[in-house]
Amino acid sequence: MNDQNKNESIKCSVSQCRHNMVTENYCSLDSISVGTHESDPTVPECTDCNSFVRRTGCCE
Ligand code: SF4
Repeated sequence: MNDQNKNESIKCSVSQCRHNMVTENYCSLDSISVGTHESDPTVPECTDCNSFVRRTGCCE
């Protein structure tokens, strides 16, 4: 995973995601997909990063 480049346009602190830079709070993807699990979202907690992929090999 050393070929990751941080995308300075996408800040993210979800270190459990394999796309996260971890050492810096940025995503490494060129773009992400954001959605919601609510029918009528009202606060940030209602939204989800649908590009999240669980990091394996740690944090078990
Ligand atoms: S894919 Fe989503 S959750 Fe994962 S690092 Fe990028 S912005 Fe964060």
